[in-house]
Amino acid sequence: MPASQLSREAGSRGEFVPVLDPATGEAFDEAPGLRPDDLDAVVDRAHEAWRGWRADPAARTGALLAAADAVEAAGGDLAPLLTREQGKPLSESYAEIARTAARLRYFAELAPESLPITDGRPVHSEIRWRPLGPVAAIVPWNFPLQLASAKFAPALAAGNTMVLKPSPFTPLATRLLGAVMSAALPDGVLTIVTGREPLGARLASHPGFRHVTFTGSVPTGRAVAKGAAASLARVTLELGGNDAAILLEDVDVERIADRLFWAAFRNCGQVCMAVKRVYAPARLHSQVVEALAHRARTAVVGPGLDPGSELGPVSNAPQLARVERCTARAMAAGARAVAGGHRLDRPGYFFAPTVLVDVPPHSPVVTEEQFGPVLPVLPYGNLDEAVAAANGTAFGLGGSVWGTDLDRAEAVAGRLECGTAWINHHAELSLAQPFAGVKESGVGVAGGPWGFYGNLRPFVVHRPKEV
Ligand code: NAD
Repeated sequence: MPASQLSREAGSRGEFVPVLDPATGEAFDEAPGLRPDDLDAVVDRAHEAWRGWRADPAARTGALLAAADAVEAAGGDLAPLLTREQGKPLSESYAEIARTAARLRYFAELAPESLPITDGRPVHSEIRWRPLGPVAAIVPWNFPLQLASAKFAPALAAGNTMVLKPSPFTPLATRLLGAVMSAALPDGVLTIVTGREPLGARLASHPGFRHVTFTGSVPTGRAVAKGAAASLARVTLELGGNDAAILLEDVDVERIADRLFWAAFRNCGQVCMAVKRVYAPARLHSQVVEALAHRARTAVVGPGLDPGSELGPVSNAPQLARVERCTARAMAAGARAVAGGHRLDRPGYFFAPTVLVDVPPHSPVVTEEQFGPVLPVLPYGNLDEAVAAANGTAFGLGGSVWGTDLDRAEAVAGRLECGTAWINHHAELSLAQPFAGVKESGVGVAGGPWGFYGNLRPFVVHRPKEV
C-alpha cells in the first residue's frame, strides 16, 4: 500500500504530522497523530486481544512466522519508504527488513521451559512462565524497523500484546510494517500509534501496561521510567552509548581501517553502539588518522535512494544541529578537522564525514554522545590511561580492542566497563546474544533467550509429595 494512502487512512481524529525527507529537508508525506485521549481505546483493544493471544502458543508461532514472511515479501515497498524518511542508503534499509524478519522467526521458535526447583524439601515446586500483559514500546528514529522488531518479536512470542510508538521523524515505514503484519496477526495484538509528544509520555504512564520498554536517549529514558513508576510497570531501557575503540601497539592499521571506519560511520554514525571515540598509540596516531581521514574524504555521500551513496544525510534537523554544535565546540577549543568538519553545501541535512584531531579530552564530542558522522581520534602513551579514558564516561554500551595478539586484546577487552566488547570488530550482534548496557546505557536485558524471558514472569507452583 503506498505510504500516502496509508497515512490518510481514516481512524485518527487528531492532527496529521508532516514527515520530512532528510535528503531534501522537505515534507513528502504525513502521518496521523493519535490524540493522547484516544489511547485508552487502543489499550483496551490490546487487553481484549491478549486473552486469545496468550492462550495458544502454537497459533502464536504460526502467526509470527507468517508475519515474518509477509515482512520479507513487502521489502520492495518498505525499504524505499524507510530510506525516504530516515535517510540511510537503500541497501541498509533492506538489511533492516531482513533483520526484522529474522528476529520474528528467531523468537517465534522460542518456548519457555518449566523448571523444577530441587532444594531437598518434600514438595514438588516448579517454575512456569507467564506473559506479562499488554506492553508499551517506544523507539527512536535511527533503526525504526529493526528496533521496533527488537521490541515486538520477543514480547509477542512470549504471549504479550503490544502498543508501539515510533519516532515522529520516522513513522511511515513502521506504520506500513504494522499494516503488513496485521494480515498475519489477530486484531489488537500489535498496534502502531504515531504522533508527537505528549503521546510517548502518556503511553509510558498509562496504567493499562505491565511492561514499558523504551529505546532512545538517556534523558527521555529517565522520563519514561518516572512515568512507568505510576503503575509500577516493569521497565526496560536501552539507552545511549559513547563507545570507545582502543587500538593496541601491534594493530595492523591498513588491515582494520575499513572495518573501523564503517563501525564509526555506518548510518551516519547514528548507531547506539557505533565507535564514537578512537584511542590510538601515540606512535601510530598519524597513520591511524590518515587511514580514517582518507576513507572519510572518499566515502560517497548522497541521497539514500541514489544507488552509489554509501552515506546518506543526517536523519533530521535537530540531530544535524547537535552534530554541528558538538563539532564547532571542539574546533573552538583547538580541535582540527583532518576530514570534513562542516555541513555540505546542498539541500537536506548532509554533514561531511569528519575526523578530528587535537581534541581536548573534556570536549563534548568526546564525553557526550554526539550521534553523528564525526570521529575524534585521541593519542595515548600508556594503555592504562586509554582504558581509564574509555571507561571514563557515564555510558557503558559497547567497546572494542584492536590488535594482532588476540589473547592480549581479549585481556584488555575484559577491562572495559560495558555490556558487549569486541575484538577487531564493533557492533556485530547475534540475535541469540544478550544485549544490555551498563551505567546510564540501560536497564534490563534484550536479545536472545534473556530478552525473551524479560517478557515473561515466573509463576511458581508448590505441590506436596503426599496429601
Ligand atoms: P529520544 O530519546 O529523543 O526519543 C526516543 C523516542 O522517545 C521517540 O519515539 C520519541 O518520540 C519518544 N519520546 C520523546 N519524549 C518522550 C517522553 N517524554 N516520554 C516518552 N517518549 C518520549 O531519542 P532519539 O533522538 O529518537 O534516538 C537517539 C537515541 O537513541 C540515542 O541516544 C541512541 O543512542 C539511542 N539508541 C539506543 C539504542 C540501544 O539499543 N541502546 C539503540 C538505538 C538508539
